[in-house]
Amino acid sequence: MIYIHIPFCKQKCSYCNFHFSTSLQHKDQMVAAMKKEIFLRKDELQNKNLQSLYFGGGTPSILSGDEIKSIIDEVLKYFSFSNDIEITLEANPDDLDKIFLKALSDSPVNRLSIGTQSFFDEDLRLMNRAHNASEAEASIKRAQDFGFENLSIDLMYGSPTSNLEIWKENLHKTIALDIPHISSYALTVEPKTMLSDWILKGKIAGPKEEDQNKEFYYMIDFLKDHGFEHYEVSNFAKPGFYSKHNSAYWKYREYLGIGPSAHSYNGLDTRSWNIANNQQYISKINSHILAKEEEILSENDQFNEMIMIGLRTIWGVDMQILKTKFPEHRIEKLSRQIQSKINDGILTIENNHLKIPEKHWFMADGIASDLFVV
Ligand code: SF4
Repeated sequence: MIYIHIPFCKQKCSYCNFHFSTSLQHKDQMVAAMKKEIFLRKDELQNKNLQSLYFGGGTPSILSGDEIKSIIDEVLKYFSFSNDIEITLEANPDDLDKIFLKALSDSPVNRLSIGTQSFFDEDLRLMNRAHNASEAEASIKRAQDFGFENLSIDLMYGSPTSNLEIWKENLHKTIALDIPHISSYALTVEPKTMLSDWILKGKIAGPKEEDQNKEFYYMIDFLKDHGFEHYEVSNFAKPGFYSKHNSAYWKYREYLGIGPSAHSYNGLDTRSWNIANNQQYISKINSHILAKEEEILSENDQFNEMIMIGLRTIWGVDMQILKTKFPEHRIEKLSRQIQSKINDGILTIENNHLKIPEKHWFMADGIASDLFVV
């Protein structure tokens, strides 16, 4: 799979610490540099049929339809791909007007992931999103009118401007809009964000974990009652609508990341990341130098990553793969560590896969980190 990072946004959301710039001054040069990077890295992922191409960010929908299409063309020119390749574009509701949707529907993009976050203006204002509640709803309907059935929306729970009743309404609205995939995260306060600043200065209250916990478990029951499968802690899909891109990532498949700050992984022991600076990225690529750093993952890193990622999913951690990848003493230690958690019902083994029962998924990261080797 290939991930393309578009490092521009119209404005800064209050909770966000991703890499992007709000100045579009160098957008043309950036698109040209990304296409050059695709060419420079055309020998990676060879012998693989691409199953997924994913535009994330930042805000990919800040590009024009022509720019998006030109990047896709460049990828498809140099990499072999399967006929049913999933091509996802993350889009913000305020960008999904008729002209843009028409251009997308004429392009190979076949899945949209819309950054809805909430159908309530108060939440959206707190998040400093560029769209309002009516745009959130209208953008989804318009995308469907243009033939996009494979739609995902992002929804954020646990905002201090929300409560269980508002959250229920958000979920009801989602069902009424007939959306087949939902990614839903708790609002978290990252350092050096507007949100953390407001909370530190006492301007707003911080999110409460007990509220987030209630909203999370309400969502699980509600979405299951409406035909969704909960296939990763933060992801729900109707049958046939699992994200190919995310699923491949959770199964430790190889991926290539293009654009500033994008990460790549060789499926074994090497991870790399591009420089998180737009100007330096452009100038290096223009000099035919890849703007990336690389690290060899230690055995501990690989083990911890498999535990962390696997335990967040419906598939769990494949013990057979662990046994073939890691030395016996490590597996024996893990077996001892998990025993008490199995006795307490916090972990289970099903068909040789180690899993966290869904009722403990809210604590998945903490449970996984207890099993890490350091
Ligand atoms: S649109 Fe996405 S990447 Fe951009 S500031 Fe908001 S959350 Fe961050």
